[in-house]
Amino acid sequence: MRYWLFFVGKLAVATAISLGLLQALHLLWPAPQDFMRAYQPVFGHDLGFTLAMGAWFLVSWGLLYLAIWDQRYRCRVCLRRMRMPVQTGSWSRMLQLGQPQIEYICPYGHGKLHVAEIQFAGKQTPEWAAYRDMWEELTTAGPPEQEC
Ligand SMILES: [Zn+2]
Repeated sequence: MRYWLFFVGKLAVATAISLGLLQALHLLWPAPQDFMRAYQPVFGHDLGFTLAMGAWFLVSWGLLYLAIWDQRYRCRVCLRRMRMPVQTGSWSRMLQLGQPQIEYICPYGHGKLHVAEIQFAGKQTPEWAAYRDMWEELTTAGPPEQEC
């Protein structure tokens, strides 16, 4: 739930930036001059304004792409960026060692993210594997030493 609320928040910020840029573009662009007592719409008739609208469109889609891309590599529990990418599998020995993929882990041990490098059947979404406590075996004390 928190993961999706964070994503919605990022989308809201991206939308606010995009609408602010659009509003600024409309406010700062000089008003069109009348031609035979008629005002032509600026978009499609003024090359500069049309190019600026094209740039605004690209920036808006870029913000949306960045929001989705950033969300993809975040921990589903604590929302921190996934770290420590490790390449697993093999390109040349795929049948023996598995398909090549990159594993990311949460620094606080909430889970792993498997991102496949080969997309056989279209775009595959990264696979999230949750752990209760990944670092438990490292942080707990080892077996008691036996005294002779
Ligand atoms: Zn985490």
